[in-house]
Amino acid sequence: MITAYTLFSGSTGNCTYITSGKTEILIDAGKSCLAIERALNHLGTSLSNISDIFVTHEHSDHICGLEVISKKYNIPVHFAYPSYDKAVINGTYLKRSAVRHEIFFEKKVGDVTVKSFKVPHDSMQNLGYIVDDGEDTFGTATDMGHVTEELAIELIKCRCVLIEANHDKQMLKNGPYPQFLKERILSPYGHLSNENCARLTCFLADNGVKCVTLGHLSKENNLPKLAYDEVSNLLCNNGLCVDLKVASPEEAVLLTR
Ligand SMILES: [Zn+2]
Ligand SMILES: [Zn+2]
Repeated sequence: MITAYTLFSGSTGNCTYITSGKTEILIDAGKSCLAIERALNHLGTSLSNISDIFVTHEHSDHICGLEVISKKYNIPVHFAYPSYDKAVINGTYLKRSAVRHEIFFEKKVGDVTVKSFKVPHDSMQNLGYIVDDGEDTFGTATDMGHVTEELAIELIKCRCVLIEANHDKQMLKNGPYPQFLKERILSPYGHLSNENCARLTCFLADNGVKCVTLGHLSKENNLPKLAYDEVSNLLCNNGLCVDLKVASPEEAVLLTR
């Protein structure tokens, strides 16, 4: 049985903790080493128990804690090569612990297997991951400009998923961001709107996914209630049901039950 928590989720930093009971891993480390260590301590564990860290992409809200973590701990940090080539070159300590992979890779860590898939975003490469312990499967895909058939097919293999509900389109259009940034977010390689997230959630629910957590919400262009309501209304209108939650930027949220 897999247990997963977002420790942090949003434009101010991302880190997801996953355990099979025997094997503990992180996806991303986009907060300080200290903040991540404190969050893990609250869950009764610590960075010294983490076997491996898997990185989605090289944007700082996903990797900014890695240099200090690599200085203090000897944890392998897995990247697809385009993100590795951009992110690792400047890291003195990260260079020692970083592992360079092909875009599609599969890594066995203790009793879990972690498998990557592509997620469209304006980074060198962005990955989603499927974590499987042989009985249970968890998947994550955020920083997603649009939903591809490939990523939807990967996510329906999972019991529980973390997906992105980045912005409310109206809030983004009327909000304070400069035009170029609005266009970047709305592009097919930007971030996923609540509306498109709702459509993806319906597809996942219709194909057997049991728990969906909405994550990576924009602080300026979204509200947890707006995201939740837009997704749950579309589920309801289609006669579908999932255990639906919203991740927090600062507090640990249990994604699996
Ligand atoms: Zn990003
Ligand atoms: Zn991000």
